[in-house]
Amino acid sequence: MPLQKSRNRGRLLRRLVPWLVGAVPVICGLAIMHWQAQRELQARALSSAQQAVSHLDRVLDNVAGAARDLLPLAGQPCEQINLALREQVTRRSFVRSTNLTFRDEIYCTSLFGDFREKVNAADYTDGSLWLMNGNSVSPGHPLLVYRLTEGEKGAISTLDGDHLTSALRLIAPSIDLRLQVGEHWIDQRGKVNDGPVPGYALAAEQVHSQHYAFSLHSGFGPGQAWKLMRSEYPALFGLLLFLGASAGTACYWQLRRASSQRAELQRALDADEFVPYFQPVVRQGDYRWAGAEVLMRWQHPREGLVRPDLFIPYAEHSGLIVPMTRRLMEKVGEQLAPLADTFEDGFHLGINITAAHCQDLSLCDDCQALLARFPPGRVKLTLELTERTPIIPSDTTDRLFERLHALGVLLAVDDFGTGQSSLSYLRQFEVDYLKIDQSFVAMIGVDALSLHILDSIIELSGKLGLGIVAEGVETAAQRDYLARYGVDFQQGYLFGRPMPLSDFVNALAEQPTGATVAEPVVPLRS
Ligand code: C2E
Ligand code: CA
Ligand code: CA
Repeated sequence: MPLQKSRNRGRLLRRLVPWLVGAVPVICGLAIMHWQAQRELQARALSSAQQAVSHLDRVLDNVAGAARDLLPLAGQPCEQINLALREQVTRRSFVRSTNLTFRDEIYCTSLFGDFREKVNAADYTDGSLWLMNGNSVSPGHPLLVYRLTEGEKGAISTLDGDHLTSALRLIAPSIDLRLQVGEHWIDQRGKVNDGPVPGYALAAEQVHSQHYAFSLHSGFGPGQAWKLMRSEYPALFGLLLFLGASAGTACYWQLRRASSQRAELQRALDADEFVPYFQPVVRQGDYRWAGAEVLMRWQHPREGLVRPDLFIPYAEHSGLIVPMTRRLMEKVGEQLAPLADTFEDGFHLGINITAAHCQDLSLCDDCQALLARFPPGRVKLTLELTERTPIIPSDTTDRLFERLHALGVLLAVDDFGTGQSSLSYLRQFEVDYLKIDQSFVAMIGVDALSLHILDSIIELSGKLGLGIVAEGVETAAQRDYLARYGVDFQQGYLFGRPMPLSDFVNALAEQPTGATVAEPVVPLRS
């Protein structure tokens, strides 16, 4: 059954929406925190790489200093200078060995003294720095070799790889730091690798040394941003969860309230608690009752009689207004049909209609059913359209109003002059009556500007050939003013308050004939 399906969908939505609403602040907050964490990691990666570069620059200054001191000795016999080479190793804390070269051949070393080995300049990045994966003395053990040349002379000093790895580890234990020299690089584990430095999942940075031919890479593996968020922002996490839970709970209660209001209205509809009250509408001249506006009341089992402005907005919001109005029209038919003989022909019956009722053609059937209960021509049914929820013109509304007019149903714009679409209603829906809002009537004799508007509305209705009804008439002065301006119908406490059927029938029977009514014809009651 489609009704069942849409109810289930509604229930599912009511369950789902609070979770979604609760998730929004959490997701937005997490996204902001994640962005913040990424920025933090980026800053950490950059600062560690900069620190490592400046530390290694200082270490290499020490190593390069040895080469600089020895370079002038290159070319001299090894036995004469061997001691100087060893002295550099001893005096300089980071130097592991020193060597002298002549015409690109090592001929003297601090370790072996006389020694012969060709130097391949291409091994050195920028001719000066070589990251080696060990040599014949310590194979597999990393070494950073510094070379300084001047013409045929050359000096080479080496730095033990352990200094590199411990610096990389100590400067930033939690950051993946890699030192690159040309095509070789070394990580914190101390292994020399060939080829390009692999990329990082997060916050990759590269800082070049300004003094030596190396660069430092830093960055983080995947998941580090979440890890940082968990460790650094636990209070924010708690706050987000609190906000999410609050938003979700508030939404849940709001929906529950709305659905319980709907359920309460539905219960009242099933229990037939909505009843019609009738307020007389009097005609110009003799002020005899020319009809009535049907006004809904809720006969609540505990609260008593409830005014429509307390429940109609919820009924409109929930869509229940349509079945409620339909039921009201049925009741009006049931109650008034037996009295049809006491009405004059063309007795006006005003029914308030909302936009939701104009979305399909069912309103035609409802009007037809109501009219069918009376002899032809006995009742003139008038639908009063308000702007509370505006009616959007469409093919359906065109067909609807065409069929309603064909049935002899009249259209009135309710509360005319208070909304913004009053005038566009006139153009779009071929209305027959304007109902002047009671706020303008109340200003008769009080406010000149409102009175001006009232006069203009009356004039406008005359020019457009529309009938006019003034509501909220409470005093004889208001009645007489409106009469002077030729207003067709009047409605208000002066002539009668909204009343239940029995009172309406009695008062209708007791009406004076022909004469002007100076005082209310029924006792005032709500
Ligand atoms: P409305 O359609 O403008 O109805 C006129 C309202 O003015 C009624 O209030 C009526 O009791 C009140 N009224 C009439 N004469 C006087 C007067 O001389 N002085 C003052 N101060 N008030 C007067 P009520 O019955 O409380 O209805 C309020 C609103 O609720 C109606 O305004 C209408 O918009 C809505 N309503 C009532 N029944 C229905 C219904 O069956 N369907 C829909 N959709 N709305 C309804
Ligand atoms: Ca009305
Ligand atoms: Ca009104």
